[in-house]
Amino acid sequence: MRLRLWDIPTGAGKHAPMIDVHTHLHPPRLFAAIRRWFAERSPWALEHQPTDPHEVARVMREHGVEKFVFCSYAHKAGMARELNGWLAQTARDLGPGAFALATVHLDDPDPAGDMRAALADGCIGLKVHENVQKLPLDDPRFGPVLDAVAAAEGFVLVHVGAIPWSDETNDGPRRIAGVLTRHPTLRIVVAHFGVPDSERYLDLAAREPRLFLDTTMVFARESPMHRALDREAIARGAGQILYGTDWPNVPHAYDAELRALQALDLDPAVLRAITSENARGLSPALAS
Ligand SMILES: [Zn+2]
Repeated sequence: MRLRLWDIPTGAGKHAPMIDVHTHLHPPRLFAAIRRWFAERSPWALEHQPTDPHEVARVMREHGVEKFVFCSYAHKAGMARELNGWLAQTARDLGPGAFALATVHLDDPDPAGDMRAALADGCIGLKVHENVQKLPLDDPRFGPVLDAVAAAEGFVLVHVGAIPWSDETNDGPRRIAGVLTRHPTLRIVVAHFGVPDSERYLDLAAREPRLFLDTTMVFARESPMHRALDREAIARGAGQILYGTDWPNVPHAYDAELRALQALDLDPAVLRAITSENARGLSPALAS
């Protein structure tokens, strides 16, 4: 039987609760539409995964998650403000440990104003899904939005390119490096371990402490996005790798990502950094 993370003693002899930085909650109608999309357009079997926010959170807590970050996304103009209101309210409903990322759409009249309103309402950063939203993070119109995120010590979680449906990222690492240069205090998390550009992101992360990669769906062996990753590469980037899962929009059990990380037989301090401690450095909201 494999040990669960919280059964693994830390260096101080204590248990280490986890932080999951990449999960999804959506309002019921949007969630139903997303599930329909996956049922009709993908081979992913999601129908048994929960959608109710409390049920989604319960599964994570049962697996030792102390804090989690959740997001949705505005795929068209005219919906971001209402969606952000729902996200912030859902974080309050779920209570301590649940943190929302806001969404903006660049065809709305005032995306930076929408961002500032969401931050004031308790959102701790921004999620951008380049493929679903058809909005690259280096679109100059994101500039004032990202300034607002940085001013609030928030972070951006970005799904770069169109994985898993295509490996085309339009030179994602170069574009992300440009955004980091233009926003000198902004922290950026690249989702899905930066696949297919992981090596280039790890090189960039070695020079840029504000760049993070999350593990989401890339480590889990059951995942359709699983990639064989070099253990040395993981150790090299260990200080900037964050545990994330895409729960509950995954066609496998919640703990598949964690089991795969444990199976890598990493140094316990490295595993603890990835599953908990690195996220505390990502955002003051997650630090305490
Ligand atoms: Zn996701």
